[in-house]
Amino acid sequence: MRYTATRQSCNSVSLGEAVLHSSPGGGLFVPDKLPVIPAPFFMNFSGMTLPEIAYVLADRLFGDDVDSASLKKVVDDAFDFPAPLVRLSDNIYAIELFHGPTLTFKDFGVRFMARLLSHLHSGRAMNRSKRLSKLHVLVATNGNTGSAVANGFAGVGNVEVYILFPRGKAGRQLEAQFTTLGGNIHALEVQGTIDDCHSLVAQAYADPALNAVAALTSANSINIARLLPQTFYYFYAMAQLRQRLGDKIKVTAAVPAGNLGNVCAAVAARSMGLDLQRIIACENANDFLCQWLRTGRDDTPRAIPTLACAADKGRPSNLDRLVHLCGGTPDDVRRKVEGVSYDDSHIINAVNGCYEETGYTIDPHGALAWQALRDNLRAGETGLLMATAHPARSLTAMNAITGRAMDLPLQLTRFMNGSDLRKPLLPSYNALREFILNNL
Ligand SMILES: *Cc1c(COP(=O)(O)O)cnc(C)c1O
Repeated sequence: MRYTATRQSCNSVSLGEAVLHSSPGGGLFVPDKLPVIPAPFFMNFSGMTLPEIAYVLADRLFGDDVDSASLKKVVDDAFDFPAPLVRLSDNIYAIELFHGPTLTFKDFGVRFMARLLSHLHSGRAMNRSKRLSKLHVLVATNGNTGSAVANGFAGVGNVEVYILFPRGKAGRQLEAQFTTLGGNIHALEVQGTIDDCHSLVAQAYADPALNAVAALTSANSINIARLLPQTFYYFYAMAQLRQRLGDKIKVTAAVPAGNLGNVCAAVAARSMGLDLQRIIACENANDFLCQWLRTGRDDTPRAIPTLACAADKGRPSNLDRLVHLCGGTPDDVRRKVEGVSYDDSHIINAVNGCYEETGYTIDPHGALAWQALRDNLRAGETGLLMATAHPARSLTAMNAITGRAMDLPLQLTRFMNGSDLRKPLLPSYNALREFILNNL
């Protein structure tokens, strides 16, 4: 498969170029043409496991660039946790995407991307100088991305990861998720702001002397290698639904939406042949997509803080990609995706209402999707709720919403008990450069 960039007409590039380099001119890489999965696959996929399904799809997507044995290993290593389907009501089922190391669906994309990057880089490094044998991943973060990226890359061979975070912004629990890993994960506490962190990373990319001796990449949230594996769990969810309910079901997916990566994955899965009838993007009070669908207004609003904070954003960074995947125009998006938004008062009612009706504790992001299905599901449709995070990820918000104290699950207490390996870093480029040079 080849990749082109949105926003800029350029020649198509290989997978290696699309994932190891940033896209030109502020555009985003998108697949030239997504593969269509042949119909016979869907006749017996309902008994297949997540890694089995993921391998078939990964082979279609990446098989030109990665040999089968390596791809199988990438898939098996990346998806070594369950994604169970839970019945909430007669017509609403949730797929729990939060059983990976950081208890959010982001583990799917990041873990796959980490292993794919490591594989692609080692192939390239063999053809180049030995000094470039390691890949150096730089991330500037306030917390959430740092947690997902650090855990996705922890222990992955030939990769060193530098998490640059401003002092005192993320809170102890979140910081522990990237400061206690050690090994190839370097947590650098910058004595400055998030802007200082971004600026240091930008200076590293722009330094020809450093780039001559170290292969640098960003592996950021808009990397296409992070987005495409998110299609896998839509297929797996459908497989589980068909196994329980038969082949005749009409499925409407409700997707908590922030930067629209997960919504893009749903659209891509449908383009690849998955029979999703409707896709509902579920925003919190940051309702950029809903407004854009209604009016076409395209500015960059300030993000406002909500209870579903992982979806707080201004202009979604994947918007251009969504337009491209839907066909190229805003009207194409309107035909393929619906949008709803709920403010905090609705989130509170949805969390409590879901619990009262079903006994199921849903997190504030999943609550957006629950409410969307309650309000929009039509007769004869089955609702598929993408449960994007474990409720304990939003511990403080959940305790306030429900009035019950929730325990921290083992995955998160493990981080809190680990030793803190953060290193202080002055907000000076020389300090970062030295640090990287010491890890060649
Ligand atoms: C990141 C995140 C979202 C938003 O996902 P996008 O792909 O950015 O739209 C929703 N829910 C949770 C729990 C998240 O962590």
